[in-house]
Amino acid sequence: MVANGELQKQDLNVEEELLQDSDCCGNGCTNCILDNKPRPSKRVLLAGKRNVILSYTKFRLLRRETLESEAESKTGGQVLLLHFGHAPEEPGAEAEDDTVLDIPPGHHVMLRIGSLLRPYSPYWSDFQAKEFRILVKLQADGPMSRLLAAVQPNDLLEFRGPIGQYAHDASTAKCIYIVAQGVAIAPTLPLVRQVLENEEDMSRVWHLVCARDLQHVYFREELLEFAQYWNYRSCLYLPHQQCASAACQEAGHCVPECLHLRRSLRYKETAKVARLDASGLATYLNPSIPGQRLLIVAGDSTFQKTMAQMATQSLALDPVNVYLL
Ligand SMILES: Cc1cc2nc3c(=O)[nH]c(=O)nc-3n(C[C@H](O)[C@H](O)[C@H](O)COP(=O)(O)OP(=O)(O)OC[C@H]3O[C@@H](n4cnc5c(N)ncnc54)[C@H](O)[C@@H]3O)c2cc1C
Repeated sequence: MVANGELQKQDLNVEEELLQDSDCCGNGCTNCILDNKPRPSKRVLLAGKRNVILSYTKFRLLRRETLESEAESKTGGQVLLLHFGHAPEEPGAEAEDDTVLDIPPGHHVMLRIGSLLRPYSPYWSDFQAKEFRILVKLQADGPMSRLLAAVQPNDLLEFRGPIGQYAHDASTAKCIYIVAQGVAIAPTLPLVRQVLENEEDMSRVWHLVCARDLQHVYFREELLEFAQYWNYRSCLYLPHQQCASAACQEAGHCVPECLHLRRSLRYKETAKVARLDASGLATYLNPSIPGQRLLIVAGDSTFQKTMAQMATQSLALDPVNVYLL
């Protein structure tokens, strides 16, 4: 086993040796890889092992599932679930391996194919098995989307990370607002899980999920599981929800009293046929609940900026407590 201090030094050396300007994807990410200083997490230190993803490492595609086909998608892009497992350099090396895979909640990884770099946010990872999953929405005419559309099980892809700065402190109770847009709900799941699965964490989570309509809400089963916890509330915002009834067709979206929508919702699921706006956010102010307020926004950059701006006012948030994934 390597001493903690030694391990930390090793990890930093890997990062310092290999990071170059060409490692930036150029998309202006809020958390740029060039500003990233990954520190070994507590569990990596406790395990006394090296985080295998600190420099570009090969992962094998273990499973590929189409969650939404191009034909089903009203926004054009196919949605894929991709499950990767670490591929050791030499066959058999895995057995006596001294590595783990640590991707903390709220962090992303960089995918490199040739000189093309794009960030992706794992929504599930296994520390010991060194596996992770991402949800990918393919973009029309996007270079990485074209490559990912063709990947098949057993293909090897290179990832590096973890990139990000969010760290949750469970020692003081907080009010955590998590706002997610479309497929970007994926990276918010580990953030919710880490609060709910810690019995000693007295923080409360409001999960505000923005999607076109119910069909485009991913991970509904997980959200229903979360709803069993005392400290979790969620609401779906579905501005384009529309059933075939005459009243909803005429209105251009489901009307508030729509029975079809009500019947489509499961126990404890709440939905509004509206965009989440400043007045909607203000309904979550909950002044009687003590604790620091913090906001996490996952979505494209325009969504992140708009939500952060609105929520800072509507929820009386200190901007230093706003995290954009
Ligand atoms: C921190 C971070 C994490 C990310 N995590 C994920 C993830 O988990 N899953 C995922 O599918 N994507 C994620 N993305 C986006 C991803 O990195 C790529 O941009 C996306 O897969 C498209 O790549 P591309 O090369 O095919 O197209 P690009 O050349 O990147 O984009 C093609 C076109 O699509 C637009 N576009 C790109 N991404 C989006 C988007 N999310 N919404 C709307 N328009 C968009 C671009 O503006 C451009 O017009 C993340 C981005 C960031 C910054």
